[in-house]
Amino acid sequence: MESQKPLHRAAILIRENGGYHFDVQQIPVPEIQPLEVLISLSVSGVCGTDVSLAAGHVGPCCDILGHEGVGKIEKIGSGVDPSIAKIGDRVGVGWIQDVCGQCSCCRIPGGETRCVEELYSGRKRNGTFAEYCSVPARYLMVIPEDITIADELVAPILCGGVTAYKALKVCEAVRGEWVAILGAGGGVGALAVQYARAMGYRVLAIDVNIDMRDECLALGAEVFLNAQDDISSAVQKATGGLGAKAVIVTAGAKVAYQSAFKIVAYFGVIVCVGIPPLPESISFHPLDFIGTGVKLVGSLTGTRADTIEALRLVQKGVVTPKVQMTSLEDLSDAIQMVGKPGIKYVVRLQ
Ligand SMILES: [Zn+2]
Ligand SMILES: [Zn+2]
Repeated sequence: MESQKPLHRAAILIRENGGYHFDVQQIPVPEIQPLEVLISLSVSGVCGTDVSLAAGHVGPCCDILGHEGVGKIEKIGSGVDPSIAKIGDRVGVGWIQDVCGQCSCCRIPGGETRCVEELYSGRKRNGTFAEYCSVPARYLMVIPEDITIADELVAPILCGGVTAYKALKVCEAVRGEWVAILGAGGGVGALAVQYARAMGYRVLAIDVNIDMRDECLALGAEVFLNAQDDISSAVQKATGGLGAKAVIVTAGAKVAYQSAFKIVAYFGVIVCVGIPPLPESISFHPLDFIGTGVKLVGSLTGTRADTIEALRLVQKGVVTPKVQMTSLEDLSDAIQMVGKPGIKYVVRLQ
C-alpha cells in the first residue's frame, strides 16, 4: 500500500463573487526538486502586494500568496551545492524566490530584482502563507547567525522593510539632508521613516491620516504634515526654502505623486515605491524635469545583500517594525487591514 503523503496547512486564495478570501486547507507538503530546498515556515508577513495579487490588480497569481516568510531548512535537494546551506539554517523567503542569472538585468550588479524571468513568490511560485514552502537553492537567503532578532521581526523586513531601505539607498540624499516620506503612516511608510532616520536623514513625514502624527514623530520624523494641507509651503518653511532632497512615495495614490513634484528640491530625486491601482496612470510635463533637474526613479524590493543590511539595522535596535500577530484562519480579515496605520500583520504558521 502506498504510504500517505505528509500534509500541511496552507491558506488557499479563493476568488468568488468579485471578491476573494482565503480557505485554510490540508494539502500535501511540497516535494522538492533536486535543486530546491524545503522550508518549514514559522511566520509570514502580509504585504500590500498580496492584496493587489489577491484582488487581481496585477495579473495572474498562484493559489498560495505570501512573500515575507521566515523558517528553517528541513530538506535539501540532492543536487544542491552543500556549501549553500545546511538543514536547520534560518532563511527568509522574500518577493524574489529565484533569479535566472543570465538576463540583461541579472548581469548588472544588484539588477536581479528585475530579472526578466520574474520568479516571484505568489506570482509564479507558491508563497509563504503555509506551513511549508519549497524554493530554489541558488537564490536562497540564509540569515547570518549573528542576526538574532525574532522571526516575527525578520518577516516584515523581507519585503516592506527592504523596500523602504532600498528606496532610501537609491535616493541620492546625503546625511543631514531632508527626505520626505509620502504615506508615512502606512506599513512601508512607517518603516521608511525609521530607516531614513537611522541612515542620518532629516525626515519629513507626510500622510492623510493625521492620527499618525505622534507615532511618526516618535519613529524619528522631525516634522509631520497633513497631506491634505498646503504641503508645498509647509515643506518650504520646514526646509529653509530648499524643498526635500528626496521624496519617497510609498502611498499608492495619484495625488501622492502629484504632491511629490510640489515639494522636491531642485536636482532632487522622487523614488516611486507605491503602486496606484492599475490601470490608473499619472501624467507629467517634461518641464517638471527639464526645468528642475528632478529625477524620477523606480525602486523594486532589494537584493539579498540589501535585505541583510536592512535586518542589521533592526538587530542594532534603530529600526523596530510594529507587528500584529495573526493566524492563517484570520488571514482573510488581516489582509483587509494591510496599509492601515503603521502596523505590519504577521501570520504565525507553526
Ligand atoms: Zn534574470
Ligand atoms: Zn511585498
